[in-house]
Amino acid sequence: VSSWAGRDTWQLARAGPARGQDIASAAARRAGLLEPFSDDEPPDARLLAELLPRFERPAPADAVVNPFSVLRIAAENERRTLEAAERLIHVRPALPFLAVYVPGFDKVCHAFWQYRFPEAYGDRRPAAEDIAELGPVVDRYLAFVDRSLGHLIAAYGEMPNVIVVSDHGFEANTTHPMWRGWHSARGIAIAAGPSFGHRDAPLPVSYYDVVPTVMDVMGFAAPDGMRGSSLLRR
Ligand SMILES: [Zn+2]
Repeated sequence: VSSWAGRDTWQLARAGPARGQDIASAAARRAGLLEPFSDDEPPDARLLAELLPRFERPAPADAVVNPFSVLRIAAENERRTLEAAERLIHVRPALPFLAVYVPGFDKVCHAFWQYRFPEAYGDRRPAAEDIAELGPVVDRYLAFVDRSLGHLIAAYGEMPNVIVVSDHGFEANTTHPMWRGWHSARGIAIAAGPSFGHRDAPLPVSYYDVVPTVMDVMGFAAPDGMRGSSLLRR
């Protein structure tokens, strides 16, 4: 749903997939920007050990998909993506807009939710030793994402406007064939930076408000027919 909603709104805003050779950066710089994704780039052993000290333990009995390979792939993709984004900021510090998709936390929640929130599963909760060892992974992963985003924001000379948005939340699930953690309807949206004043009370935000807010921050008028409204106008 979110990718359709997102695509529709971006199309209405006349933003689309990059065409041509030099949209984000000159073609000659591409190799350097994509270097983090090179097969020669080794996995970050320290990061993986921080997320889960013992990768070589037996897979938990209640998991259909091996959570350790999910964690390894998520963390490595995330780290490389954020590193490439940071390189882009250094090459193009005046780039007016940068969107970074950070999908790993979703995967980690799918694979580790039952160890983090075992009380939500009643008598179908995982084994006690799995809860003890795998329970902290979700929080550790979030700390890694948070730290990495902080790094990325610091790559700008001065504080940019930043919107962090998740298109869904998570909850326990007992019927999905693959995952015991599954999407829930409520996500989060956090906005900070020079254009956003501090508010003590949270605002109800729809996914449709994201593009109108980005357009407003950048000084564009939203086109007719666009759903949602700018958070700056509330
Ligand atoms: Zn998901």
